[in-house]
Amino acid sequence: MNPNPRKVVIIGAGIAGLCAAVYARKCGYAVTVLEQHERPGGLATSWQRGAYTFEACLHWLLGSNLHDPMHALWREVFDIDRLHFVYPEEWIRVESEDGNSLSIYSNLERLEAELLRHAPQDEAPIHQFMHAVRSLSHCPLPSLSSAWQDRLTTGLQLLRHMPLLQNLSHITAEDYGKRFNDSLLRGFFGEGENAQLAVVALVFALAWVSNRNAGYPIGGSDAVIGPIAQNLQQLGGVLRTGSSVKQILVEDDTAVSVQLDDGERIDADWVVSAADGHTTVYNMLDGRYVGPRMAHVYRTYKPFPSFLQVSLGVARDLSQQCGYVMRLLDTPFTLDPQTVLHQIAFRLFHYDPTFAPAGKTAVTCTLPTRNVGYWSRLSEHDPQGYEAEKQRVANAVIAIFDKSTPGVREAIEVVDVSTPATVVRCTRNWQGSMEGWLLTPQTGVRPLPPTLPGLRRFLMIGQWVMPGGGLPSGLITARRAVRRMCRKDGIAFVPDEHEKSPNAAGGFPA
Ligand SMILES: Cc1cc2nc3c(=O)[nH]c(=O)nc-3n(C[C@H](O)[C@H](O)[C@H](O)COP(=O)(O)OP(=O)(O)OC[C@H]3O[C@@H](n4cnc5c(N)ncnc54)[C@H](O)[C@@H]3O)c2cc1C
Repeated sequence: MNPNPRKVVIIGAGIAGLCAAVYARKCGYAVTVLEQHERPGGLATSWQRGAYTFEACLHWLLGSNLHDPMHALWREVFDIDRLHFVYPEEWIRVESEDGNSLSIYSNLERLEAELLRHAPQDEAPIHQFMHAVRSLSHCPLPSLSSAWQDRLTTGLQLLRHMPLLQNLSHITAEDYGKRFNDSLLRGFFGEGENAQLAVVALVFALAWVSNRNAGYPIGGSDAVIGPIAQNLQQLGGVLRTGSSVKQILVEDDTAVSVQLDDGERIDADWVVSAADGHTTVYNMLDGRYVGPRMAHVYRTYKPFPSFLQVSLGVARDLSQQCGYVMRLLDTPFTLDPQTVLHQIAFRLFHYDPTFAPAGKTAVTCTLPTRNVGYWSRLSEHDPQGYEAEKQRVANAVIAIFDKSTPGVREAIEVVDVSTPATVVRCTRNWQGSMEGWLLTPQTGVRPLPPTLPGLRRFLMIGQWVMPGGGLPSGLITARRAVRRMCRKDGIAFVPDEHEKSPNAAGGFPA
């Protein structure tokens, strides 16, 4: 071990910051991760209320399939093989209030048959859609291997899929859905804010689900974050929670240290920001290293919306229902003064026994909004009004749930509501965004550069440099960044296989 290792300071202990810390430690750097919140995880989190655990993030983890290259990457930062993944046969059910429903199966033959049975009038666009899903289920992710032969092979395979990828990257999910006459099928492609995502993301999701490469890990986010944080500790990295970075200090256009809110200064050979992109660029660095490209990005790219989450502890076994239900509403629901929703989705975690006692079910409902100002103002200046609004939203969600599951209202024993103010407080993400930059026809799938023009020894990672966000964006951007660091420092990048590490709990309280 080098007695004078180079020092890396990483801002933020979300998935990106933690993965970067593990890689950097493995390559011999002295690592300190600074996290403003009291726990690691960032958006990848859940919290406990009574006997229930409410998950905020994970629907699925890309790389759950043992034979996928992404699985091997996860192994580099934690022992993914200790996770138990579930693969629901019925992935999503879309329901209307008149009792009509459409099942989105993970098996593509069964799915195609269901779509054709349900909407024979949409036969042509159904075939087109299924062709796209089948094709992309054979499409590799860009290779992260350092061997040029691997990169060439993957590049050639990718080339074959380019026309389809281009095509699907240039249309939003909402616009794609308009090809279908059937209202439930259109509903599956979404409406409003989240449906501004390029449809390629949805097609990939379904392709990965069908390949059994996007399973849900029992234990949710904590089952991933806990072991990575423990791995970091075992490798000798330092994770400091409750440590908020105010400024990145620069000398001679080189990042040399960070300053915390309380004035403490920590020097480093490299500063890596895995925190919110906007705050990093415009506050921590005072906007001095933006450059025209990033200025354009921050002016024109759209972040994912923020969200409220209504979480319900239900003293009832709901395992006869689909685990993910999208409900199309006859009467639109006014979430806040700028947000009207025409559909809402429920997650029934009956497939995760760690989230509720036997015979009971943790249920969550995520409600997207861009009106962060409204919720933050209420939370800060009108606590009574804030509580009243949370209650109103919870009541409305319970009423909708009770309509589809008669009598469930009486079985609800825990109600919890988090808002965009909670997301901002716990993650500091710009506009309370749930996943960084929305992957849109404008952004395309290419990541943004990890550097800022003119600034040396500084790197950015995570969802703000990889449109579309998600846990894999944290892993991939972290790996690339540390590889780059190693190259600059003449150090071998050795991301050897996993260390065995036990599970741990985390959380993001509402
Ligand atoms: C409802 C929902 C569903 C999702 N579903 C999935 C899914 O199924 N699969 C999937 O892969 N992904 C999913 N995601 C997305 C995923 O959670 C995020 O994209 C990912 O966790 C982002 O990781 P990150 O490390 O880039 O950023 P973050 O998680 O935002 O981490 C940034 C960290 O930096 C810290 N920080 C910020 N400012 C400072 C500062 N000044 N000083 C110190 N620390 C600071 C924050 O507190 C935070 O911990 C979902 C997200 C949501 C909200």
